[in-house]
Amino acid sequence: MSYDNNNIFAKILRNEIPCEKIYEDEYVLSFYDVNPQKKIHALVIPKGKYVNLDDFTSKATSDEIVGLIKGINIIAKKLNISSDIGKGYRTIANVSEHGGQEVPHLHFHIFGGEKVGKIVE
Ligand code: 5GP
Repeated sequence: MSYDNNNIFAKILRNEIPCEKIYEDEYVLSFYDVNPQKKIHALVIPKGKYVNLDDFTSKATSDEIVGLIKGINIIAKKLNISSDIGKGYRTIANVSEHGGQEVPHLHFHIFGGEKVGKIVE
């Protein structure tokens, strides 16, 4: 699976284009989606070059995998939507063509701030 260094999230990671940052650490960057589908619509991406969840699962280190999963929880807390302090959220990762993935750098969407609705159309 080859990674396209010119995808939009690679450019955001290199600070070549701006984003509305929510959180950043060694493993993840999180920012608001430019075209929000819910009151809160955040994106969480690993800092490593992974095309999608399958690519990540097969190539990422254990530290990167833990860093991404923990990152989702840290960001949900920061947005006050985690289940311990808020009303919850939905996180999804679209994978490749049938999953409807548009940007070929792994990302989790975080939807919240209101009831999210049906899981699939
Ligand atoms: P996908 O369909 O690949 O799962 O989701 C890609 C998401 O990236 C879409 O929700 C889209 O609105 C968002 N997006 C695309 N380009 C940009 C951008 O330049 N900045 C930000 N913040 N989000 C983007």
